[in-house]
Amino acid sequence: TLEVIRVGQRPEDMAYERAAMKRAQAVGVQVRQTLLPADARPEELVAALERVNRDDSVHGCLLFRPLPEQLSAPGLTETLCPEKDVDAITVGSMGGLLARLEMGYPPCTPTACLELLRFYHIPMEGQKVAVVGKSMTVGLPTALLMMNEEATVSVCHILSQPEDTRKLCQQADIVISAAGCAGLIKADYVRPGQVVVDVGVNVGKDGVMRGDAAFEEVEPIVKAITPVPGGVGAITSTVLMAHVVEAAMRQNGLKEQ
Ligand code: NAD
Repeated sequence: TLEVIRVGQRPEDMAYERAAMKRAQAVGVQVRQTLLPADARPEELVAALERVNRDDSVHGCLLFRPLPEQLSAPGLTETLCPEKDVDAITVGSMGGLLARLEMGYPPCTPTACLELLRFYHIPMEGQKVAVVGKSMTVGLPTALLMMNEEATVSVCHILSQPEDTRKLCQQADIVISAAGCAGLIKADYVRPGQVVVDVGVNVGKDGVMRGDAAFEEVEPIVKAITPVPGGVGAITSTVLMAHVVEAAMRQNGLKEQ
């Protein structure tokens, strides 16, 4: 069983939640939902996480981020016990990633990017990878995972010079964009032979979901590009289910810690 905790009504969170529930149903994972208001107090979030910790019938917890300002204090999410931290919200799980130790679970979206590249036999070792975005949830752990694969990694962010971001993307063999900025990766950011992994999920005022890449202009140039929707997001929810199943097995003594 997976417990989903959502704070507020962000369309991106709700889209991920729908995809996760569909995937859970397909593989036989039960889902429980806790919905907190956007103005929830820190005590409410802590109480929800403590309920998950205490409940032996819940094996993993997905908490959507970014959290609103009043819930962003460091330490709040540490309430979740590491065995149920299936999407690396705790310092312990992130530390495991840094130290290359099997502690907790690696974050689902960065893991999904790697799984995708592995599935299509796209080499990472010694390849130039440009990661756009350096958030704790996507960009930074993706860069770390890529370094663990022996890639040569550049990381760009909102304060990088736009021209540097463009050049680093164009020089890369693999571009992974997790900026949350629709249309950022344009035709002049890419070149033939490249692979573009588009993590961005941007829901416009028109309700349409778009990635970070201007798909129509980038797709004809590059070797391969992931669509949005139906790309990284779909694999992310599958990785999440794999983590929940593994957590259930570990918690029931069916797999070593
Ligand atoms: P975030 O807002 O926490 O971080 C965005 C990062 O991108 C920051 O480091 C920022 O410096 C950088 N950035 C923003 N605009 C930029 C620009 N113009 N140029 C260069 N860098 C820029 O967001 P996040 O939680 O890391 O998520 C990133 C995107 O990925 C969002 O669109 C989010 O919805 C999406 N997402 C997708 C999945 C999935 O499974 N597909 C999962 C999580 C997040």
